[in-house]
Amino acid sequence: MSKTTAITVKTRHWLPRLVGFDAITFPTTIYTRLPALSGRLLVHECQHVKQWAETGRTLFLLKYLADYFRGRLKGQSCMTAYLGIGAEAEAVKMAKQYATWQAWSAGESFPVTIKEAA
Ligand SMILES: [Zn+2]
Repeated sequence: MSKTTAITVKTRHWLPRLVGFDAITFPTTIYTRLPALSGRLLVHECQHVKQWAETGRTLFLLKYLADYFRGRLKGQSCMTAYLGIGAEAEAVKMAKQYATWQAWSAGESFPVTIKEAA
């Protein structure tokens, strides 16, 4: 049986507004400036909860900041450096996969053909 993690969501919070994002996650608490999280944003932030847990808090934070400042030292803009953070790239990818699955399940084009075995 896998270990479960309790996640707290704090809505209409000042913290993400301070850094200019819709949401920010510190180990198991998701702070959002919004009144509610969309499914896609929830998946993105839950990926960060998973990363915090798997990497360990100190190492996660060090790696996250090192990725960001590595980009900035290369002359990247704040946004480009942010999107270059490994943890962010992974969370963006997960949220995109979720959005794709959601579109498929809503009856939009499904790019596979399933053949029943005889
Ligand atoms: Zn993120």
